[in-house]
Amino acid sequence: MISQKMLKLGQQSSVIRAISEYGNKRKKEIGAENVYDFSLGNPSIPAPEVIGDTLKELLDTMPPCALHGYTSSAGSMEAREAIAAHIRARFGAPADGAHIYMTCGAAASLTISLHALLNEGEEVVVPAPFFPEYRVFVEKAGGKLVPVPCHQPSFQLNLEAMAEAITEKTKVVLLNSPNNPTGAVYTRESLEALAELLKKKEGEYGTEIFLLTDEPYRELYYGEGLLPWLPSVYDRTVVGYSYSKSLSLPGERIGYIFVSPTCPDAELVFAAVCGAGRSLGFVCAPSMWQHLVTRVQGVTSDVEEYRGNMQILAGALSEMGYVVTPPEGAFYLFVKALEEDAAAFCERAKKYELLLVPSDSFGVPGFVRIAYCVSRETIEKSLPAFRKLMEEYKK
Ligand code: PLP
Repeated sequence: MISQKMLKLGQQSSVIRAISEYGNKRKKEIGAENVYDFSLGNPSIPAPEVIGDTLKELLDTMPPCALHGYTSSAGSMEAREAIAAHIRARFGAPADGAHIYMTCGAAASLTISLHALLNEGEEVVVPAPFFPEYRVFVEKAGGKLVPVPCHQPSFQLNLEAMAEAITEKTKVVLLNSPNNPTGAVYTRESLEALAELLKKKEGEYGTEIFLLTDEPYRELYYGEGLLPWLPSVYDRTVVGYSYSKSLSLPGERIGYIFVSPTCPDAELVFAAVCGAGRSLGFVCAPSMWQHLVTRVQGVTSDVEEYRGNMQILAGALSEMGYVVTPPEGAFYLFVKALEEDAAAFCERAKKYELLLVPSDSFGVPGFVRIAYCVSRETIEKSLPAFRKLMEEYKK
């Protein structure tokens, strides 16, 4: 008999995918311009021009066997050193290529890291709401996901609740800031307080607790300055990064894992990352894209388009009476559903061709996620539909 666990996973499509597939069907029926599809977090702005130029240059100048051949399992040392140099320059923090593992995007960064860190039955504490695939990744690695609701409506960390949830079984605290689905950015103060809490809990239980930080949205930040570099806040940190959103390259599958050299036993943690990558078959991330990122460190897509979308949509929805959490990053708006059952609300929204994602699979009921990484025209044309939806509930 085949694996029933995997069969179940393969047969249950994610809620987000199901809505997006409905959207594709609807677009064929009534025309794409008449469907307001806010389901997927697929970047709507093109990769910066330098990406195409660099790619052409690589194709023109690199011997094909070098460009397309295997790199070492952890990735090309040139790419890893370039990333480390960028981290040192940007954050003033220690970094070296020997502690970086190239991956196929954030999903692989997470699955590899979780397999490297977890033993059977150990717990992963995650602030809720969270990216739904976390549950799949944690359970596949033998762990147990322990969601801890954030404060509402700010969706900032609830440190008292986290303190209660962290036990001797906790091995990892998994953070994602800027956050999918809320767009919240955890404050430096709360991250520093969390670091203190983890140290205290480690002392109390005589255990090791890792901070695993999932950072595909690091560059999509609308505030001033830099977001805190978590390895400078807490030593036992592993960073999972991805270029999917920051360079609008989600289909190319490129990212990395950074084990902080400040992490106690960093060599052993990195060796476990290499072992996990090997056991999962995630070795030698796409070679051409490793060569590309080597040459474009510090380049990011222009997030102004997203900021504009967010301001128009958040402003208009608030004015209509929707309760909107003002996002500070990523490209999602988290909005209170107009009835308790968010899935029922999303069904009603479909009447107006609005495709929204109910929050239940993100671990929090009663909200919807609106992925505003769409054209400005879609944002503007969708506003009357949002208004009609609100009017229906007011009746
Ligand atoms: N983590 C979060 C929070 C995400 O939102 C996503 C994708 O949307 C991923 C991980 C996976 O990213 P990638 O496409 O780089 O694997």
